[in-house]
Amino acid sequence: MSTRTAEALPQPESGTAGATHARCRFCRTPLETTFVDLGMSPLCESYVPRERLNAMEPFYPLHVWVCRCCFLVQLEEYVSPEHIFTEYAYFASYSESWLQHVRQYTDYVVERFGLGRDCRVVELASNDGYLLQYFVQKGIPVLGIEPAANVAAAAEKRNVPTRVAFFTASLARQLVAEGQDADLVIGNNVLAQVPDLNGFVEGIRVLLKPSGIVTTEFPHLVRLVAENQFDTIYHEHFSYFSFTTIVKVFANHGLTVFDVQELPTHGGSLRVYATRDTNHAHPVGDRVRELLDREARSGLTTLDYYRDFGKQVEETKRRLLAFLIQVKSEGKSIAGYGAPGKGNTLLNYCGIRTDFLDYTVDRNPYKQGKFLPGTRIPIHLPDRIAETRPDYVFILPWNFKDEIMSQMAFVRDWGAKFVVPIPTVTVHP
Ligand SMILES: [Zn+2]
Repeated sequence: MSTRTAEALPQPESGTAGATHARCRFCRTPLETTFVDLGMSPLCESYVPRERLNAMEPFYPLHVWVCRCCFLVQLEEYVSPEHIFTEYAYFASYSESWLQHVRQYTDYVVERFGLGRDCRVVELASNDGYLLQYFVQKGIPVLGIEPAANVAAAAEKRNVPTRVAFFTASLARQLVAEGQDADLVIGNNVLAQVPDLNGFVEGIRVLLKPSGIVTTEFPHLVRLVAENQFDTIYHEHFSYFSFTTIVKVFANHGLTVFDVQELPTHGGSLRVYATRDTNHAHPVGDRVRELLDREARSGLTTLDYYRDFGKQVEETKRRLLAFLIQVKSEGKSIAGYGAPGKGNTLLNYCGIRTDFLDYTVDRNPYKQGKFLPGTRIPIHLPDRIAETRPDYVFILPWNFKDEIMSQMAFVRDWGAKFVVPIPTVTVHP
């Protein structure tokens, strides 16, 4: 099997597509305030195989709302997760810097919370076992929950026991009944991807032992706004969290956030630590109060904070296109690097096709030989860059730009420069 392609055309869930009826997925308040409207876009992981090049593709609105009550920034569920995640092309292990990040995390939590061979660690959306493998190496029992069967199979090969399922409150109850309750629950970059946010967080509380801890990492909305990361918006990401909002969501499900760390990953993420509100072993730390204060001071609990973002995004598009038009007018060539979901939002929103980017490359064999959704830019093996010697290498996964610029440093031999589009188009000679 290859990655999910345009053959399986997902349909909008009936009754959810009408914006006028949409309600906040956390507090059920009607959604009325636009955060940003990126127009119509295809599903960003629906890579197009050559034999489908003459077929049409479904496009869905990328219209993001903010709830006036709880300030949860969110997309409607245009497409169900079953369509998106059951056959997935993203293998976390392809990124070396991400592996290093989670190995350090493992060392840190094992030490801080004294995890040992009598404990159980459960990861939600455990992907290909990229993280749990480090707990396995320490002899700590683990269980991965991963809905994509092809990705879960890769985890099993790493000796990471993995259940192919979507995590829900009812699965959590089933796991507890089987004696699989957890000392540590990990949810990295998954909260954004669950339409039933309340059911998911409730499931976490159920799965935790009374003394258990949950850590979750997600991109910080404050950084998305401050650094213009509009391309991290796609149909697979239903929610975009500030710390203020996540604390509220967790509290509503009997979970107390007792610590938070700000991380550089994915353009700026938060790692949140929580436990059941009945567990008093972890007093709420200063970093929690400090970040809540900082968010309140920056205006995040007022609608004005969210209303200006759209204008900022339009300005970014104009600047990027002005740069690309200039470069092409000079007769220069541009190749892409990477085929990440965020690249597809950026390219579709800006209308960048092979008129600007000759092709892109990706290390993931699932994507090689296919075409980017919507823009139909071909995806080649990374070797292609050395073969064609483009004048510019346009880095789509800008969150890995340092890693990529060091791996691809050889392009400077023929005078090529790197281009990073976010927060604003920047050339790195
Ligand atoms: Zn709300």
